[in-house]
Amino acid sequence: MTVTIDRTAGFCWGVVRTVHIAEAELAAGHTLVSLGDIIHNPKEIERMEALGMRTIGQDDLAALPAGTQVLIRAHGEPPATYRTAHERGLQLVDATCPVVTKLQERIRKYYDDGFQVVIFGKKDHAEVVGLRGVCNDECLVVKSLDDARDKVDCARPTVLFSQTTMDKPTFHAIRELLEQRVKELVVDTMENIASEFHAKDTICGQVSGREQKLREYARQNDVMIFIAGKKSSNGQVLFEICRDANPRTHFIEDADELDAAWFAGASAVGISGATSTPQWLMLLVKAAIERIGSPAPHPISVPS
Ligand code: SF4
Repeated sequence: MTVTIDRTAGFCWGVVRTVHIAEAELAAGHTLVSLGDIIHNPKEIERMEALGMRTIGQDDLAALPAGTQVLIRAHGEPPATYRTAHERGLQLVDATCPVVTKLQERIRKYYDDGFQVVIFGKKDHAEVVGLRGVCNDECLVVKSLDDARDKVDCARPTVLFSQTTMDKPTFHAIRELLEQRVKELVVDTMENIASEFHAKDTICGQVSGREQKLREYARQNDVMIFIAGKKSSNGQVLFEICRDANPRTHFIEDADELDAAWFAGASAVGISGATSTPQWLMLLVKAAIERIGSPAPHPISVPS
């Protein structure tokens, strides 16, 4: 049985950047508190905590002593977090992914211009909490085509964005639906009724560019093992793509979830993961599968 790792799997550059920023702070001997899980992967959190990082929730922020260094992770934070940190005298280490920062700026601009802001995403996902914050939570978060059909006010000029890790086909289905429905009366000339619907495909290239390669890789293997944290949004999206291309795909968070029965009759096993899955974890799972695939050593017969 051959076991390979998908060459396109693993940390995206935004996550690599965040982890490097945190590691540099810890290596310099600074104490560092991460506001929320640094990434959606419990094994990587364990590794960072072993280096000295501590993880806290939003509710703990106001109780931190002044001067504490607080890491803003790649997902970004709403303006309220920056205000609280400033009031408390906390030192922010801002590792927001530049792609997310750009998205926040664009949402803010359309909000200020009076647009109805529609975000395709998961309302309580950390990135979306930040996006909602930049427009004072006066936006609409839709998680599906039906949601968009039911909730969008088609009489208002509207802009559609996406959380960076959502799936492209659903985003484009929502865009097509809204393109047919949303109109704005332009008031400078009484006759002009123009379509004023903007759709910003803000799904990160690190996610969407992988879809096709992942499908091809999954089809080349008899069995696929997909590794991600159960809370990883990007992991869920990529796992579904992988399973669609290869029904013998299994989702795991760690090597101890492997089941020998999954590999019956398989000669090629592929390993892939989310943008938050560390390379070292994929290597560990590869070694565990190779152990399952190795024939048990023959008992040594001792001559009597
Ligand atoms: S998936 Fe894209 S937006 Fe999200 S952290 Fe990675 S690079 Fe940044």
